[in-house]
Amino acid sequence: MSKKLALILGIRPDVIRASLILGMLRDDPECDLQFIWSGQHYSDNMKDVFFRDLGVAPPDIELGAGGETDADISSAVIARLAPVLREMAPEAAVFLGDTNTVMGCLAAAQLNIPIVHIEGCMRSYDWRMPEEKYRTVIDHLADVVYAYFDEYKAQGVAEGLNPDSIVVTGNPIVDVLDHHYYGRKDHYEALADAEFFASRGIVKDGYYVMTCHRRENVGDLDALKAILAMVGAAGRPVYFPASYRTQKIIEANGLSVPANVITVDPVGYEEFLVLLVNSRGALTDSGTVVEETCVLGVPALQIRKSTERPQVYDVASCVKFDPAVPEEYPPAEVFRKVESLYGKKWTHTLGDGRSSRRIADDLLSRLKEGRFRRHAPADYHLDISRSYRGDGLS
Ligand code: UDP
Repeated sequence: MSKKLALILGIRPDVIRASLILGMLRDDPECDLQFIWSGQHYSDNMKDVFFRDLGVAPPDIELGAGGETDADISSAVIARLAPVLREMAPEAAVFLGDTNTVMGCLAAAQLNIPIVHIEGCMRSYDWRMPEEKYRTVIDHLADVVYAYFDEYKAQGVAEGLNPDSIVVTGNPIVDVLDHHYYGRKDHYEALADAEFFASRGIVKDGYYVMTCHRRENVGDLDALKAILAMVGAAGRPVYFPASYRTQKIIEANGLSVPANVITVDPVGYEEFLVLLVNSRGALTDSGTVVEETCVLGVPALQIRKSTERPQVYDVASCVKFDPAVPEEYPPAEVFRKVESLYGKKWTHTLGDGRSSRRIADDLLSRLKEGRFRRHAPADYHLDISRSYRGDGLS
């Protein structure tokens, strides 16, 4: 009889990153995969288009846990996930990343269902970021953590996590791009015809693509104003598929968007990849986009004070703009650096293209062998014998 495994996802990059893992788990007859969608992202262009573009079968269960605020969404995920997990009683509940959806791990914790965290032990050490708090919480609740790199594992161990619970896998975005982009390059070249660029008011290799959605950037008006001023000095058109939250904040505060910025609604994955690979570079605060540009050989400007993905700086695929101190990053200097990356070659260190397989295989062997429970407490417990003490009376 097959055993149940719950995989809980809820935002656009989750589908992208887990697209191959999902297929591998579904293909194994001994795994009864229950793919649960939280509902954090729900519109066609933030959700369904990614299932279509990546050939991923839609979720088995939709929680519909939306809301206006982070508190609304995360509490709805917990409240709606708990009865589903109780009834399902999976061998483990698998989460990915650092979002409101990941806070659903509290429902699994309350039910004492083993928790698995993919993309574990990343740290920006920027405590203003809700994402940093979320990933710290789930890493410390998890029974099994998949960390992309040895340095991430070391970060978790330094926080007291048991090294035996952390499996180093490499970053699955490499496999996703190998499969969906490099494996179908002709398709992407055919999509990038003259009409594609003309209809968007841009010229191949003559524009930047921009994304901007992080709380510390769009939730702080000074930061957002600094970002808009900086991209206004790009000297090229900036094609900006803007998240709905960002669009709302710009509108509600009457911020003026520079004339060279073409704002559109978020686009699907194929369209976004065409935009990226034919651009001059990406201006972004997205974690996933800087990984993708690093793999695809596209220059990037990271619009962030700190990053949990320093590997992109190691290979010099991107430069930085810190919106908290814009005076330290004069636009002319910033764009001179971005332009200097154009046409440069670097070798990314993000993975060998087998990370999804490694994660899926490890999950499947644990599922079959019933090995999801947390490892016995390790040496970092100061004196475990005190916790198990009895009074000795008979
Ligand atoms: N992306 C997309 N369409 C867009 C903007 C981004 O397909 O209009 C993709 C992008 O290629 C990347 C992911 O969405 O794979 C990034 O999502 P986001 O920036 O929302 O999340 P983060 O990576 O910061 O968690």
